[in-house]
Amino acid sequence: MAVPFRRTSKTTKRLRRTHFKLEVSGLTTCSHCGATIKAHQVCPSCGYYDGRQVIVKKEKKVEKKDEEKSSKK
Ligand SMILES: [Zn+2]
Repeated sequence: MAVPFRRTSKTTKRLRRTHFKLEVSGLTTCSHCGATIKAHQVCPSCGYYDGRQVIVKKEKKVEKKDEEKSSKK
Protein backbone atom coordinates (compact mmCIF):
# COMPACT_ATOMS: atom_id res chain seq x y z
CA MET A 1 0.00 0.00 0.00
CA ALA A 2 1.29 3.41 -0.95
CA VAL A 3 2.16 5.70 1.93
CA PRO A 4 2.18 9.53 1.64
CA PHE A 5 5.73 10.86 1.37
CA ARG A 6 4.92 13.98 3.41
CA ARG A 7 2.32 14.95 5.87
CA THR A 8 -0.27 17.24 4.26
CA SER A 9 0.13 20.72 5.70
CA LYS A 10 -2.69 22.51 7.51
CA THR A 11 -2.95 25.04 4.68
CA THR A 12 -3.13 22.43 1.92
CA LYS A 13 -5.69 20.43 3.86
CA ARG A 14 -7.80 23.51 4.58
CA LEU A 15 -7.57 24.78 1.00
CA ARG A 16 -8.73 21.38 -0.28
CA ARG A 17 -11.64 21.41 2.15
CA THR A 18 -12.89 24.83 1.08
CA HIS A 19 -14.78 22.95 -1.63
CA PHE A 20 -16.47 20.67 0.89
CA LYS A 21 -19.72 22.45 1.59
CA LEU A 22 -23.39 21.68 1.74
CA GLU A 23 -25.77 23.00 -0.86
CA VAL A 24 -29.42 23.64 -0.27
CA SER A 25 -31.23 21.41 -2.76
CA GLY A 26 -34.78 21.44 -4.01
CA LEU A 27 -35.28 25.18 -3.91
CA THR A 28 -36.30 27.31 -6.88
CA THR A 29 -37.79 30.72 -7.46
CA CYS A 30 -41.45 31.24 -8.27
CA SER A 31 -42.01 32.18 -11.90
CA HIS A 32 -44.91 34.44 -10.94
CA CYS A 33 -43.83 36.33 -7.83
CA GLY A 34 -40.12 35.45 -7.64
CA ALA A 35 -40.23 34.10 -4.09
CA THR A 36 -37.96 31.22 -3.08
CA ILE A 37 -40.10 28.07 -3.04
CA LYS A 38 -39.74 24.31 -2.86
CA ALA A 39 -39.48 22.67 -6.28
CA HIS A 40 -42.57 20.92 -7.70
CA GLN A 41 -44.84 22.54 -5.12
CA VAL A 42 -47.40 25.30 -5.25
CA CYS A 43 -46.01 28.71 -4.33
CA PRO A 44 -47.26 29.46 -0.80
CA SER A 45 -47.15 33.21 -1.30
CA CYS A 46 -49.12 33.57 -4.56
CA GLY A 47 -50.68 30.11 -5.16
CA TYR A 48 -49.19 29.64 -8.61
CA TYR A 49 -47.87 26.37 -10.01
CA ASP A 50 -46.48 25.78 -13.50
CA GLY A 51 -47.45 29.28 -14.62
CA ARG A 52 -51.09 29.13 -13.62
CA GLN A 53 -53.01 29.91 -10.46
CA VAL A 54 -53.92 26.72 -8.61
CA ILE A 55 -54.88 28.06 -5.20
CA VAL A 56 -56.76 31.30 -4.73
CA LYS A 57 -55.15 33.05 -1.81
CA LYS A 58 -57.47 34.28 0.90
CA GLU A 59 -57.10 37.99 0.35
CA LYS A 60 -60.82 38.51 0.84
CA LYS A 61 -60.43 38.15 4.62
CA VAL A 62 -58.13 41.14 4.69
CA GLU A 63 -60.61 43.09 2.58
CA LYS A 64 -63.45 42.09 4.91
CA LYS A 65 -61.45 43.25 7.90
CA ASP A 66 -60.87 46.55 6.20
CA GLU A 67 -64.58 46.80 5.41
CA GLU A 68 -65.48 46.01 9.02
CA LYS A 69 -63.11 48.62 10.28
CA SER A 70 -64.50 51.20 7.88
CA SER A 71 -68.12 50.29 8.75
CA LYS A 72 -67.40 50.60 12.50
CA LYS A 73 -66.07 54.08 11.98
ZN1 LIG B 1 -45.30 32.85 -6.27
